[in-house]
Amino acid sequence: MSVGRDSVPVAVIGGGPAGLTAGIYLARAGLGPVVLERGLPGGQVALTFRVENYPGFPEGLSGPELASRLESQARRLGAQLETAEVERVELGEGGFVLRLEPEGTLRARAVVVASGSRPRRLGVPGEEALGGRGVSYCATCDGPLFSGRDVVVVGGGDSALEEALYLARHARQVTVVHRRGQLRAAAVIQQRARAHPRIRLLLNAVVEEVLGDDAVAGVRVRDLSGGGSRELKAEGVFIYIGGLPNTGFLPPEVRRDSAGYLLTGDDLQTSLSGLFAAGDVRQKRLRQVATAVGDGALAALGAQRFLEGLD
Ligand code: NAP
Repeated sequence: MSVGRDSVPVAVIGGGPAGLTAGIYLARAGLGPVVLERGLPGGQVALTFRVENYPGFPEGLSGPELASRLESQARRLGAQLETAEVERVELGEGGFVLRLEPEGTLRARAVVVASGSRPRRLGVPGEEALGGRGVSYCATCDGPLFSGRDVVVVGGGDSALEEALYLARHARQVTVVHRRGQLRAAAVIQQRARAHPRIRLLLNAVVEEVLGDDAVAGVRVRDLSGGGSRELKAEGVFIYIGGLPNTGFLPPEVRRDSAGYLLTGDDLQTSLSGLFAAGDVRQKRLRQVATAVGDGALAALGAQRFLEGLD
């Protein structure tokens, strides 16, 4: 891949809400940023059915629409969006060297890492073997395939409950299996899920195995309050148990917390001078579009001040 330039003042890794916002701010600062995204712009929000809590859209809007608005805004203001995967970030003379997949190198004096996170795997037998054959990490992508069928959702956070509500539009019954007695999801989402006639909650329970030969036929669930294990028939299993930060391409000296999220200061600079982090990839209390765009703006300002020699 070639971005048409060997060297840029600042590169942004990741084209989700955090990265695109950084691109918007850096472009408006006249720094001609390149935003590198390995898939389609928009990140995880592009896979979200509906976004209700992003301020300014009182009726809510679809995830793909929000993603596409962010993308066109970034492009219109002059950010250069490129499809490329960053395989490695190395320290070079006067900045960073980004090794790109499938090929190419880009030098940047400052970098904003907005590479997000990927779905955490449950790690039970059958999960990997039946991936794409009933095991899914994306309800908006695969939910319509399960029209009139029974599905299981694993997890108790916002994602699990919101996606359960989405799946309940299509599925006959949605069983949410959560390992504790209390859900983690926001109260408003919990209330909706609890009130939904096609959603049932199985609390204090864990999925021990995904069952099926060629396709998912069910799950084996263990009751943690002493009820033993039993099989639950289902044709789809949607796993929403949180994310893992995408940081494998960064040098090991960039400081992370015990879960691998990047540690940043107030200006969102990491432990490496000139390397900033924004969005889900960094350690923070709340991972939402609203906080991702705030991060993107702050990291862009940090990178701008770094390039101007102000910090
Ligand atoms: P999350 O909030 O980290 O929740 C993960 C859930 O999975 C928790 O209920 C957790 O159980 C469970 N879990 C973790 N590991 C497990 C395992 N090995 N086996 C079984 N269960 C396991 O993740 P998320 O729901 O994906 O949300 C990620 C972030 O995005 C959050 O900050 C969330 O608020 C945000 N988000 C926001 C919205 C929204 O605002 N509308 C929508 C989606 C996501 P415990 O509760 O027992 O720890």
